[in-house]
Amino acid sequence: MTITTQHACAECSSPYTRKRVTQDFCCNSCMKSFNNRRAIRGAQLYDLFMIMRFERKRAKVRGVWALACRLAMYWREEDLRDRNQNRSWKRLEHAEDQTSWARATIVHRG
Ligand SMILES: [Zn+2]
Repeated sequence: MTITTQHACAECSSPYTRKRVTQDFCCNSCMKSFNNRRAIRGAQLYDLFMIMRFERKRAKVRGVWALACRLAMYWREEDLRDRNQNRSWKRLEHAEDQTSWARATIVHRG
């Protein structure tokens, strides 16, 4: 007996049946749209984050943290309006998995 459960696509909200447990999208096109948006938004945040981390005085004077928060607010509003209220970011576990090498580096230094 095969049990199939319908899931909502993380990009378009359409129902689909998973072929893998980790599948979040109904098709490759939706996966690409989701990841392209994350890449564009991430590139915008990368420079701001590095400036906050390594040019702290300048970042504080220029309000870089507030700018980053404003970007997140705009993106969230865009998600709520245009993406059927779907979140545009992956789960914390995914982010932790993607950066597990960094944790391993810290352990080796200790
Ligand atoms: Zn989809």
